[in-house]
Parts: sequence; structure tokens; C-alpha cells
Amino acid sequence: MGQIKIFSPATVANLSCGFDVLGCCLDNVGDIMTIRENDVQEIRITKIIGQNLPMETGKNVAGVAAKSILSTLKSSQGFDIEIEKKIKAGSGIGSSAASAAGAVFAVNKLMGDPFTASQLIPFAMEGEKLASGNAHADNVAPALLGGFSLVKSYEPLEVISLPTPEELRVVVLHPLIEIKTRDSRSILRQSVSLEKAIKQWGNLGALISALYTRDYELFGRSLQDEIVEPVRSILIPYFDELKKIAAENGALGFGISGSGPSVYAMCRGDEVAEKVKSSIKEFYKSKAIDFELHLSEINPHGIKILS
Ligand code: ADP
Repeated sequence: MGQIKIFSPATVANLSCGFDVLGCCLDNVGDIMTIRENDVQEIRITKIIGQNLPMETGKNVAGVAAKSILSTLKSSQGFDIEIEKKIKAGSGIGSSAASAAGAVFAVNKLMGDPFTASQLIPFAMEGEKLASGNAHADNVAPALLGGFSLVKSYEPLEVISLPTPEELRVVVLHPLIEIKTRDSRSILRQSVSLEKAIKQWGNLGALISALYTRDYELFGRSLQDEIVEPVRSILIPYFDELKKIAAENGALGFGISGSGPSVYAMCRGDEVAEKVKSSIKEFYKSKAIDFELHLSEINPHGIKILS
């Protein structure tokens, strides 16, 4: 029976001015998944380590995403899925996306690679639909493709892979409070002023340009969010203070990761990133909130095969 073990990475989506369209892939934070063929013609979630998540296939994003690819392939092959969750659900760094993308990646490999990585995105999005009620692609796309992904449109689905400036580092603070994607969506305003929209698309255009030209300063100046951050940041304890600390310690930009509560700081080089990380740690450890801190390179490849 075929079997594959993979590392499925965490991702930072809603990158400031790239709300709902731009995400990037992390390198050293992610889930470990083992997927093996079975002979019972069923998708089964056989083990979940590290988190209390649904074992029923239809309630776990990995099961739903795997079913989606197999139904398009009209295959009755069954698979057993084991997930070692290292990314907490509801963290805002693509916990559900890692499981959904990992499941479709592994099933595709074991089925002989009928789809390209880009073609796998819609199957993984089915998992996202289960997790948040919204089939968004800005976490699953960078998990599958690596680097930065831009979701140009949903109908038709068009995703563009962008270059990764090598010196970029991401510091992620995850305050251990839960904010459901569903809840943080519900507080968003449904209309935007023209003035704010102009600033936002100016920044997004400049941010994309900065990725191509590896202009770190422009990248930092463009990482701004006029629309969502002012509303959502109120859900994140000490957001303004954290943003100030990141800037004072040399971060290029700072914002909400996904729908929170995680926040991210983009930095140039290891030295600045370490400094930003330690100052955030120093500040947050005096608060009565448990937290996790990560420092990662941008992973240009996405999901990795371990064995
Ligand atoms: P995140 O942005 O970190 O993915 P979400 O709130 O979007 O967080 O998704 C987490 C939701 O998805 C939770 O309600 C969780 O129970 C559900 N879920 C189902 N299967 C999984 C899975 N394999 N991994 C993570 N979350 C899952």
C-alpha cells in the first residue's frame, strides 16, 4: 500500500493591503501528515495528535479536501490520514489550510500526480469552506505553491506565484486566545470609501512591484492596510503597542495574520528579525496572555515530502 509523509506549512494570509488576495508560506512551522492507501474505499481520519479536532471525515478539512480531489478523479481508492497538528486551529496562520492542502497534495502524489500544484488549489479550498464558510485560497495557494501567492480572481480562479526576496524573514506572534474566522469576518464593514480603496490598491501594486525588484524599503512602505486592520486590530490584545515595537526595532512592516489573533512582522535579514522577536517577547511576557512566537524564512517550495 502506498504511503507518504509530508510537512505541510503554516501560511500568513491577508497580508495587510493584500486582504483576501495575498499570502505567503512559512518554512519551519507546519503540520506533519501521513497518508496511506487503504483497501476499504473510504477516507478515514485515523489519528490526530496535538489538537482536539473532528475525526469524522466530513467534519475534518483534510477529509473533505481529500474527498473533493477523489470525486473529481472518479476514484474509489480509500486513504487513511494521520495529522500531527503543530499549528493550532484558529491561530490565523492557516491551520485548516495546512491540513486541507496537505491532504490533496498527498492524495495527488499517491494517485500518480494527475494534477499540477495550481490545479490542486480548488480541492484544498473545499476544506477552507468547511472551516470558515468561505472557500478562500490565500492560505492554501501559498501552502501548495510556496512563496507569495496572489489570488487575482475567484471566478474564474486565477492564482499568480510571485518572487520571494531571499532576505525576508517573518516573525509571528500567536497570542493564545481564540478568534474564529467566522467571527472576525462578521465585524468587517461591507463597503469601502473611494479614498481608502485608492490608498489600498496603490499600496498593493507597489508591494507586488517590490517583490519583483527586491526593493525591501518599498515593500515595507507598502505593507499597510487602510481598510481591515483598523477594524480587526481591536480584537488583538496590545496590537498598537506591538506594531510600534516592531517598527522601533527595524521591522519593514507589521499587520494581522489571517483573521488573527496572530500578528506578523516582516523583517529584512536574521539580525533584525531576531531583535524584533526578542522585543516582542519581552513586551508580551509581562502580559497575562500565553503566546507562541515563530521566526521563519519564506518557504519558496511549499509542502515538503519527508518520506
Ligand atoms: P485557521 O485560520 O488557523 O485555519 P480557522 O478558524 O479558519 O483557523 O479554522 C479552524 C476551524 O477548522 C476550527 O473550527 C476547526 O475545528 C476546523 N477544522 C477541521 N479540521 C481541521 C484540521 N484538520 N485542522 C485545523 N482545523 C480544522
